Amino acid sequence: MSQSHAIVVGGASGIGWASAQALAADGYTVVVADLNGDGAAARAAELGDGHSAAQVDVTDEASVATLFEGAGTVDAVVSCAGFSTIGLIVDTPVDQFRSVIDVCLNGAFIVAKYAGRHLSDNGALVSISSLNARQPALGMAAYCSAKAGLSMLTQVAALEFASRGIRVNAVAPGFVHTPLTEGAALVPGVVEEYIENTAIGRAGVPEDIAEAVLFLLKAPWLTGEVLDINGGAHMKRYPDIIGHLMKLGGT
Ligand code: NAP
Repeated sequence: MSQSHAIVVGGASGIGWASAQALAADGYTVVVADLNGDGAAARAAELGDGHSAAQVDVTDEASVATLFEGAGTVDAVVSCAGFSTIGLIVDTPVDQFRSVIDVCLNGAFIVAKYAGRHLSDNGALVSISSLNARQPALGMAAYCSAKAGLSMLTQVAALEFASRGIRVNAVAPGFVHTPLTEGAALVPGVVEEYIENTAIGRAGVPEDIAEAVLFLLKAPWLTGEVLDINGGAHMKRYPDIIGHLMKLGGT
């Protein structure tokens, strides 16, 4: 069987890095692409021979185009770049709102655009949406809005790319311990409240999500799906991060 090729965007850290490792273990050659070019290079070296790295900024179309042109035809794309800010709507500078939308929604669109052009027939794209696509969180207007948009973008792309057999899905993780959530995890009460509002009784680790990413990449009859993976938290409510921060005396 011929070798399968993958790009993991945002692959130098957290969920993206766990996904890159899962794909490599499954036999894919992986391009680890990230804003953090040095981090991507170190991760690709860790994966070993045949794997490579690229620096990319998903908010910059030319940068994403260069990434995909350099990689050639690929069989799988995992779109993980993202970040969040925290602050009530009335206190949030518009530029801060725009910066989150730019990475989490516009960036995901640009990656989907080039994935649609460069994926092989019957290839697959998986994006990382969020529990916050469906569950509102105080102080996270930009992130919730961007991820809700990404969940719908996933369905539109699934319809548009289907003529070439390309499947487009997303995972929607709950609270996962990664560098992105390190700050929130330090606020007393946040992780505890998340866990109280799960059915399974724990927060996630990146490997939980990577396993679902690999499943979605391979499931031949699955497209247009946004898979909640959160220990059951979508059945309850999101932690009040702002409330816990206020108890600390910050915002
Ligand atoms: P992470 O460890 O911070 O990894 C995100 C990676 O994306 C970082 O390497 C970051 O690089 C990179 N990145 C940021 N902006 C970029 C850009 N403009 N272009 C290219 N790469 C960029 O975070 P994570 O928790 O693994 O998050 C991965 C994805 O999962 C995100 O989309 C996040 O929204 C989503 N998600 C996370 C959770 C969670 O609880 N952790 C829950 C739901 C959804 P730098 O470090 O250089 O900024």
